[in-house]
Amino acid sequence: MEGKTVDLGGETLAYDTLVYALGSAIADQSVPGVAEHAYNVAGKQAALRLRARLSEMKPGGTLLIVGGGLTGMEAATEIAEAHPDLEVAIAARGRVGGWLSDKAQRHLRGALDRLGITVHDHADITRVEADGVVTGAGRKIRAQVTVWTAGFTVHPIAAATTLEVSDSGRIVVDASMRSVSHPDVYAVGDAALAEGAGGKPLRMSCASANPMAWLAADVIAARLTGRKVPETTIGYSLQCISLGRRDGIIQRVTPDDQVTSTVITGRTAARIKEMICASAAWSISHPTMMMPSRRRHLAVADAVGTRLLTRS
Ligand SMILES: Cc1cc2nc3c(=O)[nH]c(=O)nc-3n(C[C@H](O)[C@H](O)[C@H](O)COP(=O)(O)OP(=O)(O)OC[C@H]3O[C@@H](n4cnc5c(N)ncnc54)[C@H](O)[C@@H]3O)c2cc1C
Repeated sequence: MEGKTVDLGGETLAYDTLVYALGSAIADQSVPGVAEHAYNVAGKQAALRLRARLSEMKPGGTLLIVGGGLTGMEAATEIAEAHPDLEVAIAARGRVGGWLSDKAQRHLRGALDRLGITVHDHADITRVEADGVVTGAGRKIRAQVTVWTAGFTVHPIAAATTLEVSDSGRIVVDASMRSVSHPDVYAVGDAALAEGAGGKPLRMSCASANPMAWLAADVIAARLTGRKVPETTIGYSLQCISLGRRDGIIQRVTPDDQVTSTVITGRTAARIKEMICASAAWSISHPTMMMPSRRRHLAVADAVGTRLLTRS
């Protein structure tokens, strides 16, 4: 980013207003061996590479998922269900799914047991090797395949500019998704650090990225057309977790993402999660058929030649 232009790797593009939405990538947390030996599911190519490796594994083959968050739980259960002949394990620094409500945690443990997944709680992985991992306590957990899901990081592009970024390199934005240092730059999704309900930072998720994008679009349109800038606080309502194809957990949360005792489990939860994933996939492949209230398009140039983003 130089002046009001962006470099697209050879081509330079000028902008009046820039929306930065470059997402995130897998983070190795500076653990040696992750890049060399671990697989991940953070993108399509990475997931296809893992699928190819899984198809080569023999019955009794060992696979370890590192990370007890949403991605780790979903990956472990999905793989164990699809490959019942493999020995699947999951390792986490704390407890796998430890932040969930008691009812959700009981259901999760039941599902992990049912699928024959070995759980290594309180295992701080400090090295990945070709045949497994080593914990901070010096214990070796053997695995032919290690899948790293222990965190995500953002592209270093933003931190290399004069934009104000957080310690993690995310662009710091105000309540309107506008950069606090550059008024012509907006940032949304995983790449942005925004406050949500209760003043808490929004977590990297579709549940944050979608409303952030909608809000930024409304704000930009309002500012360019001199209309009232909408004020919205982004909050959460659910955490939706699949546990294979036929089981899941829908955990009700407060707007600031604290779990409540309301939980839906089992097939109903799996169907809800599947519906959300299917509708997300459908809306990405049919961008022009979004709900009318959410449809926006570029309109004519105004008197000073600025392109306006307006709501249809
Ligand atoms: C396996 C997995 C499962 C997940 N499941 C859930 C879930 O169930 N619920 C949930 O809420 N969240 C889930 N997430 C998280 C969610 O996918 C992300 O938080 C969300 O996609 C972030 O949206 P984004 O638009 O910020 O980034 P992305 O969706 O990552 O989009 C970023 C885009 O920018 C492009 N890009 C990146 N760098 C450049 C560059 N230099 N130049 C040009 N283009 C670039 C990328 O190709 C991509 O198209 C999951 C993530 C993973 C990996």
